Amino acid sequence: MSKRISARILDLLFPPHCPICGKGSGKDGCLCPECLAKYDGEQKEKCPVCMKTAGDCTCGLAGVSRTFLGDKRTVALAFYHPHGTGGARVTERLVRIFKKRYDRSLTDLFARDISGKILLLMKASEEDPTEWIVTFPPRSNENRRKYGFDQGQIAAKSISRYTGIPWKKTLRRSGGDEQKELCRGDRELNSGSLKLARNADVNCRKIILFDDIITTGATVRAATDLLTDAGAECVFPVCIARVQKESKAGK
Ligand SMILES: [Zn+2]
Ligand SMILES: [Zn+2]
Repeated sequence: MSKRISARILDLLFPPHCPICGKGSGKDGCLCPECLAKYDGEQKEKCPVCMKTAGDCTCGLAGVSRTFLGDKRTVALAFYHPHGTGGARVTERLVRIFKKRYDRSLTDLFARDISGKILLLMKASEEDPTEWIVTFPPRSNENRRKYGFDQGQIAAKSISRYTGIPWKKTLRRSGGDEQKELCRGDRELNSGSLKLARNADVNCRKIILFDDIITTGATVRAATDLLTDAGAECVFPVCIARVQKESKAGK
């Protein structure tokens, strides 16, 4: 908590600069106009298999997401390229920053974009947002201590503010390491460490599950299993970026 307060005081004393290029940031206090244009452009990139954007593509998600809202299996803002030129991509660089330091305007940027898509889907599929909750797989206890916050929790809170869907902590970690962030061979699942939170009370609940990046889908699958076993009616994953299916792999 103290880190958050000090971050906000620092923002007041030193107006924020674009976290990507360091230039003065735009009106919303986050990305400069050039980086914002790149970020928007990345959301328009097409899947090589189905030729849809990350927001519409469902390739490779069949075993990961079992819930549909409209014709979508997830909300994703952009594709993530684990073995490609991800280092240069604005979205992936922002996710790295998002994990490492508490940044209100960055969180709000992601949350606002994800929330807009959630609300559109709810409307299209005649779902009542008030019947849903937003939750997240928490980061490891070790990383929570190291960075002083849980990026999933602050994103869930922010999504809750934008959508009016209440957020709730339903999962916990029982020790173990968080899956490695954004690097090759990433996300060896330490599934034993993800548990249902005490007093989770998800029986008959409809759940939006926020995870920053979906790579193998192992975290989302494990979380969905836990929540479904505890009685959740459905679990719909949302993320900032998701891995892109290779074009040769077929559907
Ligand atoms: Zn910039
Ligand atoms: Zn696709």
